[in-house]
Amino acid sequence: MTLKKYQEKRRFEVTPEPSGGEKTSKSASSLIYVVQKHRASHLHYDFRLEWNGVLLSWAVPKGPSLDPSVKRLAMQVEDHPVDYSDFEGVIPAGEYGGGTVMVWDTGTWEPEQPNVDAALKKGDLKFTLHGKKLKGSWVLVRTRGYGGSSGKSSWLLIKHRDQYAFGEDITEQEPYSAQTKRLLADIAREGGGDVDQASTGDPIFKVKAPRSAPKAGAKKTRVRR
Ligand code: MN
Repeated sequence: MTLKKYQEKRRFEVTPEPSGGEKTSKSASSLIYVVQKHRASHLHYDFRLEWNGVLLSWAVPKGPSLDPSVKRLAMQVEDHPVDYSDFEGVIPAGEYGGGTVMVWDTGTWEPEQPNVDAALKKGDLKFTLHGKKLKGSWVLVRTRGYGGSSGKSSWLLIKHRDQYAFGEDITEQEPYSAQTKRLLADIAREGGGDVDQASTGDPIFKVKAPRSAPKAGAKKTRVRR
């Protein structure tokens, strides 16, 4: 696990993303979990788990699903610095990953297996999420095929059956930042980014809504895109 690839891809004098360094000492008992919604050339959700001082990272094009019968493709990408977990903002156009980044979900995770390194090597990592949006038991399973030459490996992100599993579309229902309650369009506007591009990642029915976040307990209208 190294940040070399992460650092090689980015120009830190241009992008506001953290350059990454040694992990600042945090309690080893709480491992960071974060999902960053990223409207770059394509919308995707970057799923990250802290392990061995970095954030192991997977790009999930369709985002997570709470339905245990749904398997979501998750392409493993370069490890990110732990500092990246609260990065929300605009990566300048033309830079690596140029576009708008939202902290879509945040919290901690716990492995469900005693030997995480062995589980990662085997390609079958079972874990529990304690996020604001995603909770309960999940698995990442590496698949055969794809990505051999690109060095990326493809995995599937799957919800296990438990009290947090259900069939609704969490990405549609919960489009706001877990950190600032903003939509992608808000983050782009406030960060000097491309608002029109960012807004294509927000649910259509939310874009023209008032700027304020929904009231706690308010009923959300479900509208299909
Ligand atoms: Mn990304």
